[in-house]
Amino acid sequence: MQTLTRPAFDGRALINGQRVASRSGATFTCISPVDGAVLTEVARCEAADIDAAVAAARAAFEDRRWSGMAPAKRKKVMTRFADLVLANAQELALTETLDMGKPLRYAQAVDVNSAANCLRWYGEAVDKVYDEIAPTADTALALITREPVGVVGVIVPWNYPMIMAAWKIAPALAAGNSVVLKPSEKSPLTALRLGDLALEAGIPAGVFNVVPGYGPEAGSPLALHTDVDCIAFTGSTAVGKKIHVMAGQSNLKRAWTELGGKSPNIVFADCPNLDRAVEAAVGSIFFNQGQSCNAPSRLFVEASIKDAFLEKALALLPQYTPRNPLEPDTIMGALVDTVQMNNVLRYIELGKSEGAKLLAGGEQTLTETGGCYVQATVFDGVRNDMTIAREEIFGPVLSVLSFSDTAEVVRQANQTIYGLQAGVWTSDLNKAHGVARALRAGTVHVNQYDEDDITVPFGGFKQSGVGRDKSLHAFDKYTECKTTWIRIDSPV
Ligand code: NAD
Repeated sequence: MQTLTRPAFDGRALINGQRVASRSGATFTCISPVDGAVLTEVARCEAADIDAAVAAARAAFEDRRWSGMAPAKRKKVMTRFADLVLANAQELALTETLDMGKPLRYAQAVDVNSAANCLRWYGEAVDKVYDEIAPTADTALALITREPVGVVGVIVPWNYPMIMAAWKIAPALAAGNSVVLKPSEKSPLTALRLGDLALEAGIPAGVFNVVPGYGPEAGSPLALHTDVDCIAFTGSTAVGKKIHVMAGQSNLKRAWTELGGKSPNIVFADCPNLDRAVEAAVGSIFFNQGQSCNAPSRLFVEASIKDAFLEKALALLPQYTPRNPLEPDTIMGALVDTVQMNNVLRYIELGKSEGAKLLAGGEQTLTETGGCYVQATVFDGVRNDMTIAREEIFGPVLSVLSFSDTAEVVRQANQTIYGLQAGVWTSDLNKAHGVARALRAGTVHVNQYDEDDITVPFGGFKQSGVGRDKSLHAFDKYTECKTTWIRIDSPV
């Protein structure tokens, strides 16, 4: 294994262009799930820190130091920001792995690269998106323009800390807003480094602030703040509901929520390539140790091919044996912390007690490391009404259900409070289109799962949230739509 030098972490908040301790001086301890080691102390921000960050963001917005910059210039700064993320890729990837346990190879190849690509893409877009002129009579000129909303609060989870932050800060900043980002208390370190790199790239002080802290202590004051114009949240459905309440009970700020999922993946017997379907089903549920909102955690396999499918799936499992995420060839690392690990283990016990058949895994592993590792786990004989098929486990647990009727499997797939993503595998074009149309989900994957691009929207139906990240649609969340109606008195 190559020798990795641990980065020098700075856990202080970033407010108005300065790294500062929390106003109270309080900190919380950042512990690595890789081996239980203490990484650093991090500023434990509370309402007073949020007030300071929002005031800095407001002042920056009002004097137009960023929103007043020509789009072509903002583009340059945003693309420099993306370049700096790539220039610091090794440090950022190592920090992400140490902080939340994902394999280092993916932290770099996926997390760092996607975050940089997202910053670049929105930066590139700002001087290419035009506003509109309405088709009025020639006695008027009606301009429909987009303006930044003002101060955007961003609250993100820990599963893809840089990517989740980038999906929100990139369009919000590119559109000219000021941003106050609260990262998850479980993985705050790369967000703080993004703040440093934004400053280095030329984003003016006060425009991008990062305030680490616990949800109720730092997240709530941000969502409740009357000088925040928009709150963009990614996290659980339970907290997402509170975000909408806080937005409503404060200043009716725009609230956008990207929430949980329990995505169905339906494999029909006429699936065009069984090996590919198996690899995608297994690879997508165990990627990021199962801690992905869009993980296909409910696998519906047509009864006639279920045995063959499971035999192939179980043959792949040794590859997903958890290992030290710092090793270059590890593909399954640690869960984010002991709370999450114990939660996953609790669901596994629930699955067993409700009568699902444990085919593989089911145990904590690598306990001698002091880290948080759970085996890749597969349950067969799952019913859609079992807890493990209804609730988001957010861990490496695959529930397998079988079906023999298309209408019935679509009904069961949709029988969930969530509607984030879904998968369909079939060679029949009619079936693919018909089932894709019937599935209530923000994204339907056909004959693949989890292929993705910044150009397409990401978000959910039902209790998977409100609004879409990614693509040009994300600009809608961070801009106000204004009509300017100009009377023309004397047409020639
Ligand atoms: P979480 O809801 O517990 O926390 C998310 C963020 O909200 C954290 O920063 C946390 O500190 C903050 N928070 C917690 N309580 C708060 C409160 N009362 N007020 C304000 N902020 C508060 O979620 P998590 O465990 O960090 O992340 C996992 C969840 O995120 C899963 O449900 C997953 O599906 C979801 N997720 C969704 C998407 C998507 O795009 N739909 C993407 C990634 C993760």
